Amino acid sequence: MLFAVFLDVDGVLNTKTTCQHTPDGYTGIDDARVKILANAIKMYDCYEVILTSDWKEMGEYDDDYLYLLEKLDLYGLDIAGKTKDQGNNRGEGIINYLKAHPEIDDYVILDDHKFDFMNYTGLWERLLVTDGIERAEFASRTPEVEAMVFMDYIKRFS
Ligand SMILES: [Mg+2]
Repeated sequence: MLFAVFLDVDGVLNTKTTCQHTPDGYTGIDDARVKILANAIKMYDCYEVILTSDWKEMGEYDDDYLYLLEKLDLYGLDIAGKTKDQGNNRGEGIINYLKAHPEIDDYVILDDHKFDFMNYTGLWERLLVTDGIERAEFASRTPEVEAMVFMDYIKRFS
């Protein structure tokens, strides 16, 4: 079973109070939060991290993008793919990604914003809204089992 996490960065792997900075001077990434993500996702035998964050728009050799890869790599994670969206249609970007990747059996979405996710029941019920990954909440009042399981893992490793 291939399990995917659609990952936002800002508001998930950092918060407004994060002291770390990227090479270009933006808010950085907290190792402790990457560790929580890594521990949770490694509960699955087969998993992928798909980047949904605006960080995906950076060039592959941008200092800040390399910084992100380095931070993930500290805990053995890498980026298997990136969604494409126009404007703030982040949910639509995920829907298109899922259509192009039928090998993904189940997934959750980590994001600190709700964007257009509510327009897609499957996404909404798998959305964990964060304020830092350790403070995740279900977007839906009727979350999918996969979201509940992943929430348990986050809490376990926080
Ligand atoms: Mg964000």
